[in-house]
Amino acid sequence: MITATTPQPTKIKPGKMLIDGKWADSLSGKTFETINPATGEVITKIAEGDKEDVALAVKAARKAFEVGPWPKMDARDRGKILAKVAELIMKNLEELAVMETVDSGKPITQSRKGDVPYTAETFFYYAGWPDKIHGETIPVRGNYFNYTLREPVGVVGQIIPWNFPLVLASWKLGPALACGNTVVLKPSKLAPLTCLRLGELFMEAGLPEGVLNILTGSGETVGTAIAQHPGIDVVALTGETITGKSIMRNAADTLKRVSMELGGKSPNIVFADADIESAIKGSLFGIFFNQGECCNAGSRLLLEKKLHDEFIEKMTTFANKLKVGDTLDPETEIGPLISQGQFNKVIRYIEEGKKEGCRLACGGEPLGGKGYFIKPTIFDNVKNDMKIAREEIFGPVLATVTFKDIDEAIEAGNLSDYGLAAGVWTRDIRKAHLVARRLRAGTVWINTYAAFDPASPFGGYKQSGFGREQGIHSLELYTQVKSVWVNLE
Ligand code: NAD
Repeated sequence: MITATTPQPTKIKPGKMLIDGKWADSLSGKTFETINPATGEVITKIAEGDKEDVALAVKAARKAFEVGPWPKMDARDRGKILAKVAELIMKNLEELAVMETVDSGKPITQSRKGDVPYTAETFFYYAGWPDKIHGETIPVRGNYFNYTLREPVGVVGQIIPWNFPLVLASWKLGPALACGNTVVLKPSKLAPLTCLRLGELFMEAGLPEGVLNILTGSGETVGTAIAQHPGIDVVALTGETITGKSIMRNAADTLKRVSMELGGKSPNIVFADADIESAIKGSLFGIFFNQGECCNAGSRLLLEKKLHDEFIEKMTTFANKLKVGDTLDPETEIGPLISQGQFNKVIRYIEEGKKEGCRLACGGEPLGGKGYFIKPTIFDNVKNDMKIAREEIFGPVLATVTFKDIDEAIEAGNLSDYGLAAGVWTRDIRKAHLVARRLRAGTVWINTYAAFDPASPFGGYKQSGFGREQGIHSLELYTQVKSVWVNLE
């Protein structure tokens, strides 16, 4: 229910694209509507870009890279602009939080306390990097002076999804810009608003024209054109595994560097010797945070057999109490799914789970009324080979499987095409580290779930992708090394 204290979205203006420092309609003049998933209502219209708009943006980014001040600027001054953006994000926190919530459906408290401050933190973190990115001197044989330069790669295409628009924009823009590259960024059609506002904040912070270009439009047109364009040197995607495969094929002809942050079906393993109360809390957070629309969602709960009954009973009691509904109510814990399409997909998986003979422990149905809400859903008695245990659902649906010992837990944990993240809950420190080592996942959380920090790397094993974002590791993608030889004879 909307209360007197609930912030109202400011009237959000139609979205234009940022090309060469100017806000522009698409060349075709076409637009699309962005929808509030909590109500199904249109928020505003957004310019619908196409291949020709990509060509303009790449031209601007190329010029900004070849002749503009950005790559040559004193490194610390580049850092100052990133720091300024971080400050502006915090200054505009409330506006950005409401915008993120109405566009993507995440609860307002999450936007206020999580997404927006974390975005600023990421820019603060990368603001400290530019003057620390440097080469080496190498003691080669012979009378030479050999050293390396670590240089920006050039023009970077960055394609991001709708589940964390601001956060994921910062994970991509922070390191790419810190290294001195120029960027063509494409947010998702389903939640483009905050990325466009972020573009305004970059301009306000003094980013030179053409360094950041933001294109709105579909993956098939704008995304494909970014992957194929010969003027782009690197393409970095966060999205579905199938999208990653298509981008890799399209980028192959121009031999672009690619980075892939893709889907997941992460196991969350609870041993009987865990602190049960915190394991329940962490497991609920792991699957239901952001409505389960998280790449790292702990969507497979692997429970030691002897713990099963107590754990499921307590967990479902808590799940039934989670507050689902009005995204602008500060008390709300679970918002709607992003779209009618995503809602239909999740409902299909729930039906599939029932058909496969799993026990529905709680949820399993829409909330009813307006918006794309589905109640937190826990399936019990799931087998590792069932569809709901193998495929990424990307909604508030948990599949519970039991195991009898550590080997069975590790085997089940690794039984996936994905390898993005995993959770381990136990009081036995030896067991915790052993399991962490044997799991094939890019991140393992021990006695916690979904802890993040801009300084710590994140990325996938197996079909969850490759390349790492955040921390020092992200700088690899956005720099290249030049070896310089000087004859001292
Ligand atoms: P998506 O793959 O459908 O879209 C992601 C982006 O790619 C969008 O901007 C989209 O327009 C674009 N795109 C779609 N098809 C394209 C194509 N053929 N060529 C070029 N671009 C294309 O994903 P989504 O539904 O927006 O997001 C959910 C997915 O993202 C999930 O699979 C989730 O696991 C993944 N994800 C991964 C991470 C991570 O860090 N590994 C983080 C968040 C989300």
